[in-house]
Amino acid sequence: MKKNILKPSIAVVSLTCCEGCQVAILDLGARFLELTANVKIGDFSLLEDKPEEAEYDIVFVEGTPLTAENVSRLKDLRERSKFLVTIGACACLGGIAELKNYQDKEQRLKYVYKNVEGIENPDIEPVKNYVKVDLEIPGCPINNEEFLWAVKELLAGVVPKIPQRPICYECQLKQNECLLQKGLPCLGPSILGGCGATCPSNNYPCDGCRGPLRGANINNFNESLRNIYGWSQQEIDLIMQRFGMLDDSYPSPPSIRGKMEIKKIEK
Ligand code: SF4
Ligand code: SF4
Ligand code: SF4
Repeated sequence: MKKNILKPSIAVVSLTCCEGCQVAILDLGARFLELTANVKIGDFSLLEDKPEEAEYDIVFVEGTPLTAENVSRLKDLRERSKFLVTIGACACLGGIAELKNYQDKEQRLKYVYKNVEGIENPDIEPVKNYVKVDLEIPGCPINNEEFLWAVKELLAGVVPKIPQRPICYECQLKQNECLLQKGLPCLGPSILGGCGATCPSNNYPCDGCRGPLRGANINNFNESLRNIYGWSQQEIDLIMQRFGMLDDSYPSPPSIRGKMEIKKIEK
């Protein structure tokens, strides 16, 4: 990261997604607008439609590279940017779209489209599987406070480091009653913190939208979930598919495609 950029050029680019992470950024309101006074914005579809800059200092990418057009846009942006940041579960993990990787994807396509001829139906991969990623800001949507902090650090020439702490760390700081101890399927101990334990604070177990905590021993955690709470590995894997973190959680991802049954887990 180059230091002392006077007026850096940035872009916030959407691939295939709901654009909810862009909305989270706009929710910062005046604080985000203050930030934009110090940068040149080349692309930010929800904010304004400006001509592209030839080169960017920082590009933020949300969404999944799903279509050939997405992949080509992503590779072009990578070539023209000094620093590329993925924002949100779609870009960092594959997101909700990755659910179909674990099912019969041809069958899923037929559920959606009457005529499937000519429709692309690739496996879903996170951005890092296509281009080099310099920083990941996870979540579905992103925590906009974390985003603001990270942008300020980047503009000061510092590459921010998201603390590797589990969701439980923030959950316990808030003195929440532990849902896992009550027998609910909370993935908090194995998930990267930084969201302020949003879900458990609202009495809902963590489904892992921020992805796996680096160094977490997922096999041991799963073993505890099976032995203490009596969940099957299939039930645990089904939760871990939700935001695309299943294949990111194991050194060698289990071969489960086409074998998963859709079944509701009571929460
Ligand atoms: S990570 Fe979530 S909020 Fe962000 S674009 Fe993807 S689905 Fe939408
Ligand atoms: S509710 Fe979940 S996140 Fe909170 S302490 Fe228990 S296991 Fe951890
Ligand atoms: S508690 Fe878990 S699922 Fe909820 S926002 Fe945080 S990381 Fe995402």
